[in-house]
Amino acid sequence: MLLAQDVKFLKGVGEARAKILREDIGVRTVEDLLTTYPFRYIDRREVYRIGQLRAGMQYVQVKGQILYFEEEGEGRKKRLVATFTDGLGVMRLVWFHYIQSIRKRYKPRTTYIAFGVPQLFGGYWSMAHPDLEEADQNSKQPSAFAPIYHTSERMKRSGVTSTFIAGLISQTLSIAADSISETLPPYILSREGLMPRREAICQMHTPDSYERLEEAKRRLKFEELFYIQLSLLTYAVERQTHISGQRFPRIGDAFNSFYKYHLPFALTGAQKRVLHEIRHDMGSGRQMNRLLQGDVGSGKTIVALMSMLIAVDNGKQSCLMAPTEILAEQHYVTFSKMLEGMPVSVALLTSSVKGKRRDEILSGLASGKINILIGTHALIEDTVVFATLGLAVIDEQHRFGVAQRAKLWTKTVTPPHVLVMTATPIPRTLAMTVYGDLNVSVLDELPPGRKPVHTVRVGASEHAKVYRLMREEIAKGRQVYYVFPLIKENEKMDLKDLENGYRHLCEVFPDLKLGFIHGRLKTDDKSAVMQAFADGEIDILVATTVIEVGVNVSNATIMVIESAQRFGLSQLHQLRGRVGRGGDQSYCILVTPDNLSGDSMKRMEIMTSTTDGFKIAEEDLQLRGPGDLQGTMQSGIPFNLKIANLVTDGNLLEEARRLAHEVISADPDHTHSYNEILWKNLKNTHTSDIRWEEIS
Ligand code: ADP
Ligand code: MG
Repeated sequence: MLLAQDVKFLKGVGEARAKILREDIGVRTVEDLLTTYPFRYIDRREVYRIGQLRAGMQYVQVKGQILYFEEEGEGRKKRLVATFTDGLGVMRLVWFHYIQSIRKRYKPRTTYIAFGVPQLFGGYWSMAHPDLEEADQNSKQPSAFAPIYHTSERMKRSGVTSTFIAGLISQTLSIAADSISETLPPYILSREGLMPRREAICQMHTPDSYERLEEAKRRLKFEELFYIQLSLLTYAVERQTHISGQRFPRIGDAFNSFYKYHLPFALTGAQKRVLHEIRHDMGSGRQMNRLLQGDVGSGKTIVALMSMLIAVDNGKQSCLMAPTEILAEQHYVTFSKMLEGMPVSVALLTSSVKGKRRDEILSGLASGKINILIGTHALIEDTVVFATLGLAVIDEQHRFGVAQRAKLWTKTVTPPHVLVMTATPIPRTLAMTVYGDLNVSVLDELPPGRKPVHTVRVGASEHAKVYRLMREEIAKGRQVYYVFPLIKENEKMDLKDLENGYRHLCEVFPDLKLGFIHGRLKTDDKSAVMQAFADGEIDILVATTVIEVGVNVSNATIMVIESAQRFGLSQLHQLRGRVGRGGDQSYCILVTPDNLSGDSMKRMEIMTSTTDGFKIAEEDLQLRGPGDLQGTMQSGIPFNLKIANLVTDGNLLEEARRLAHEVISADPDHTHSYNEILWKNLKNTHTSDIRWEEIS
């Protein structure tokens, strides 16, 4: 009861501060407050000498005085450097922002505790943007870790500082700690060597020691990951038992004659394996829910097509949903060509298919005359009714709002088999969390004869080199993509960049044919340009990221990306995937400012050092950190992680998943009394945090 109380009733909070707590850090109840953990601690007991600092140390405290300030560097690189001494050694404190106010705030010849991560630069230890606190001469040697909580500007202004929160929590713990109940049964606690929950929460806020703190974190992370896995797996089991699937027992004429007479190449081993998995799923009588991961160019389309032929052999219709009209059209062309001469009817439905043609398609679908429908979001409109939908394939899944996927379900009584294809390789830990109940197939082999795309970074002053390479390739009959960034917030300016860039390139290559494409063009114009490029009538296609996913023109061998530092890693990888699709050596040229540093440089280095999409995805996760995932992986994680970290807690996640499996198989009907607490908690709290409809 106490834990469910609104925080506004706590001493010193009140309506106004409660509102801010709610809006800025999502704290409504006392329980929310107690499970808002510090993001770091100051170990008050441990003060290092400069001479004791070692590479790889995390946050440390050093006690000493500022000798003098100096400003270094020019313009945007300007920084404030304080030379700081503990009486024996000397180190540098460095600030890149707020230089004037920092200079005013801190005085030489005053003793401070500097708190930060020490790094060795040019032979000196330095700390960037350290916290400085005046060392209080009078106070005794402090004896505990001081917790530091995240706060927003607004919180600080209204007095809700980290110190305020610390006080509030310790006060609350003194009256409410006893109400904190255990969420894991004793046998799990002892088997996994976990600290009781009440103790863990207390230790998080006021740790007795570093070791206890680590134990507390492990306990809470494990609990978080375990419940997520438990709900995902429970859901999967329920779905398998309660939802019947369509059964496709037959492999017949459509599949076999395609395989014998129409398939234009030999399948790779990986393609064969994945098709086998899909056949097995669709023949099992349970609904297939499979994620097909395959790097760009690994040949996912043919897998989709052949899966659809299995549906045809079993008298069912299928649909393929693509994220853009360009892609839908391209798939339509590919399918029509490959299926030429076969009694399989394919149709294309996008929002630009209108009038009589649209009516024809809709009635063809309703009568069952159309076997395969390819399209965009237009597919999920209510007017689109299938006679009998057996398989839904979703291409480039991350572009879809997930709710849209769920809508496909309503199109038949027995839900169709679902195959979700993505070229965004999802790192293992993430896949386990996001797709806990989805089966995953991986196309881990490229069709034979592909050469890795040669990738280089060039500075903006080296355009001449880029143009030379373009000329050489075009002289050999090849084609070029030339991409400019188009970032939403500043679309107007970016479009102008694109237009200027196009004009400039026309001047550089007056004798060549250039085309121009971006998202704002009308659909017809877009497809006309893409068609012209596919037909080889355009040498250089100047574009925005509308060509990012899926487009397949194998004669294109150069991808130039302007302002490459503005793109994320997965986007760069997608763009690069547009070339290297034939047997010829291809190039990806990342144009950036001449001088590049920090994460931008790191991203470029990753791109030039590997073409392995999985590796890039892992690096991306490391660079961004999981905190950023919510925003970036739009389809992303359907729940918030409070304490666990997908990048660093991979092992714990696997452990939690293993245990969840064991629990479910040992107690499938949820009847064992020793698990009562688990099932109760699963129902009450944890499942409501997960947005099921987003898991397809
Ligand atoms: P993605 O997985 O990126 O969607 P696609 O399905 O577009 O890749 O395939 C990329 C290219 O590789 C296409 O031109 C396709 O025809 C070709 N391809 C696919 N599978 C094979 C194969 N087994 N052997 C040769 N070429 C293949
Ligand atoms: Mg594709």
